[in-house]
Amino acid sequence: MAQHPANCEICARIEQLQSGAHPGFIAHLPSGFFVLGDSQQWRGYALLLCVTPVADLEELDWNRRLEFLRDLALCSEALSNVLKPHKMNVESLGNLVPHLHFHLFPRYLTEQEPTKPVWVQMNPSEDVALDVEGERELIAQLKREIERLIVQRA
Ligand SMILES: [Zn+2]
Repeated sequence: MAQHPANCEICARIEQLQSGAHPGFIAHLPSGFFVLGDSQQWRGYALLLCVTPVADLEELDWNRRLEFLRDLALCSEALSNVLKPHKMNVESLGNLVPHLHFHLFPRYLTEQEPTKPVWVQMNPSEDVALDVEGERELIAQLKREIERLIVQRA
């Protein structure tokens, strides 16, 4: 099985998030950090980064696992409510960086290939870098929505 790497770029991101220096920060949840992705080729693309440095979900004890999955469900619902996509794609891969994280892609019918996975469509020439100033309102909306969902689900 893949091992969590000693020199991990997601752990470095988490340190940035903990020091308040991460531009895409949306929310600090019990099991992880909810952040907008560096690329916005899919508007609202976000990640949930697990604070526990493990490679896979199965390495978390059962309660931590459920906590992480509950946080993931809140992130997905917040994106869905705010961005009103046609479909949400929620994926855990981590083949490149084996630190547990989920990718959350709002999918839209206006895409060229809305039925295909994002991974086969990623095109560096069409990359849209995260514009933190431009996305300030989206980040604020997602923050408000996740706080609302946490209260509602409590
Ligand atoms: Zn890590």
